Amino acid sequence: MKKLSPPEFARLRVKTRLNLAGRDPTDSYGFVNPAIVRGSTVVYPNTEDFLVRKARYTYGTDGNPTIDALLAAANTIEGGAGVVVTPSGLMACTLAFLAMLSSGDHVLVTDSVYRPTRNFCETFLKRMGIETTYYDPAIGADIATLFKPNTKAVWTEAPGSQTFEMQDIPAIVAAAHARDVLVLMDNTWATPLFFDSHKFGVDISVQAGTKYYAGHSDVLIGTVSARTPELYKSLNRAWHELGLIIAPEDAFLTLRGMRTMALRLKEQMPAGLEMAQWLGERPEVARVLHPALPGAPGHEIWKRDFTGASSLFAIELAPVSMKAVGAMLDGLTLFGIGASWGGYESLVLPFDCKAYRTATTPDFKGPTIRLHIGLEDLDDLKADLDAGFARLRAAS
Ligand SMILES: *Cc1c(COP(=O)(O)O)cnc(C)c1O
Repeated sequence: MKKLSPPEFARLRVKTRLNLAGRDPTDSYGFVNPAIVRGSTVVYPNTEDFLVRKARYTYGTDGNPTIDALLAAANTIEGGAGVVVTPSGLMACTLAFLAMLSSGDHVLVTDSVYRPTRNFCETFLKRMGIETTYYDPAIGADIATLFKPNTKAVWTEAPGSQTFEMQDIPAIVAAAHARDVLVLMDNTWATPLFFDSHKFGVDISVQAGTKYYAGHSDVLIGTVSARTPELYKSLNRAWHELGLIIAPEDAFLTLRGMRTMALRLKEQMPAGLEMAQWLGERPEVARVLHPALPGAPGHEIWKRDFTGASSLFAIELAPVSMKAVGAMLDGLTLFGIGASWGGYESLVLPFDCKAYRTATTPDFKGPTIRLHIGLEDLDDLKADLDAGFARLRAAS
């Protein structure tokens, strides 16, 4: 393999860049994949080199070749100035806050935010003297009405966790940047393949790599990408100061997942949409929350800004007891009941967002259920759910 220059590499299309990024067989004894390098200590050839830390890698917490290989892949699809990697998706969210905010700052957070991120704002940020105001995810340009003199950042997530509200990111970015306010985004649902967040002006973009990057429900990992070199400098400094190194095995597994990510999403997007459509036609289902589904809430924004969809969405059932929901879900044979998503397997979970929302009150009348569609045969999945609906009706 002849080595490409950075400009030659940059000209390649995204599928090819995801295939090639971070592997250089001359660095891994000729093998296709990068080596898993474990280590804390780096030894230096002499005192002089040690004193100035003259080495490609200086110490385990400063970086490592396996992690760099993952960063190359993440960077090439984020298209920003630089990425850092964290031990979980949640840590990627919390690092974004920690790197960008200081005591006395105010931050605006969408009411549809991933719940553990909300918890971090309520605990850690509060303790650090950082004030959080939650806002309606549909706020758009009116976000400007919530700015205070000390507002430093707006946290966005589109579509929102569990309830899938879309956000008008360009309108929020325009309002925020007019006031020197940063826009941070949890872009896990779309991945950079389907929403080019930095191109839309998002300053700090977070991925729970646990989901579609890793893709196999066997790794916890996160990435944070910065739009500009200045932002990357702050982000990387915070990452370094906190000592947030990850295990090289996790970097390796995530990178392996990323090699097939475009292919998995190409299969999972239409599968999710077909399932959403099928569910929407059932009498037991009151509403489908999937922004890529024509007619669903947020579809117009999705169509304008996004180039694809992942296979995670939710449904609102027609009013029915939780006992009936239990009868439906407990008997499923292909769908696991569990959190997280983005793997090859289908998942389902009931949720109640009314329990923790503060800025908005979703108008759900029936129970709400989130589904993740994996790589199983769609007809088998439909048969599993069809039998589940029969149990639901019998228990109603
Ligand atoms: C899962 C998830 C996270 C957190 O990822 P973990 O690796 O599980 O900590 C963050 N944001 C969103 C939107 C998620 O779905």
